[in-house]
Amino acid sequence: MAQIVLATHNPHKVEEFQAIVAATRPDLEVVGYNGPEPVEDGTTFAENALIKARAAAAHTGLPALADDSGICVDVLGGAPGVFSAYWAGHAKDAAANLNLLLDQLLDIRDPHRTAQFVSTIALVVPRLSRSSETVEHVVEGVWPGRLATAASGQGGFGYDPIFVPDGQDGAERSVGEWSADEKNAASHRARAFQALAPLLADLPVR
Ligand code: IMP
Repeated sequence: MAQIVLATHNPHKVEEFQAIVAATRPDLEVVGYNGPEPVEDGTTFAENALIKARAAAAHTGLPALADDSGICVDVLGGAPGVFSAYWAGHAKDAAANLNLLLDQLLDIRDPHRTAQFVSTIALVVPRLSRSSETVEHVVEGVWPGRLATAASGQGGFGYDPIFVPDGQDGAERSVGEWSADEKNAASHRARAFQALAPLLADLPVR
C-alpha cells in the first residue's frame, strides 16, 4: 500500500488523519514520522506546518502532511496564534494558558471578545521523477466564535473550555461542554480536512 507520512509523534493524530485520508484515498496508509525534528521557527501557522511537512518529506521521500493550529483573539491582534501552546511560558500548561488569556481579557466585553480557532495543514509532495518538482499545498480551517468569561465543561483540551463557537442559536456552550463527535464535525480541523480532501484525491503516488 502506498504511504503518506504525518509529521507528528502523536498516535491520536495519526488515527485522526488516517480516518480522513481513508475517506478519499483508501489506497493510502498514514504513517507516523520518526526522523529529526525541525525547529518550528515560523511566525505563521502555515510556515510552521510547511517546516514540519518539508522535513518529513525530505527525510522519508514520501508525500508528507503536517498541521499547526491555535487560537487567534481579535482584540489581541491574532495572538496567542502560533504561541498558543506556550502562551503562559514554556511549560505547555493548558490551564495556565487559558487563565492568562482570561485575565488579559478581563475588561473586554462582548461584542469585542471574538476569536477563531485556526487549523492549517501542509501537504508536501516530493518530486516523483527527474522531470517533476516538489509540490507544496497549504489549506486552512477557521472556526469563529467568542471567548467566555470563565471556563466551563470537562471535554476537549487546550482552550476548549473558554471557546464558544458561533451559530449555536442563542446557546452559550463552550467546546468544553460539547461531545467529541459534535466538535469533530464542526471544528477548525474538520474544516481544514474538508479543504484537504480534493488535494488528497489528486495526490500522485509512486
Ligand atoms: P498544535 O497545533 O497541536 O501544536 O496545537 C497548538 C495549541 O493550540 C494547543 O496546544 C492548544 O493550546 C491550541 N489548540 C489547537 N487546537 C485546539 C483545539 O481544538 N482546542 C483547544 N485548543 C486548541
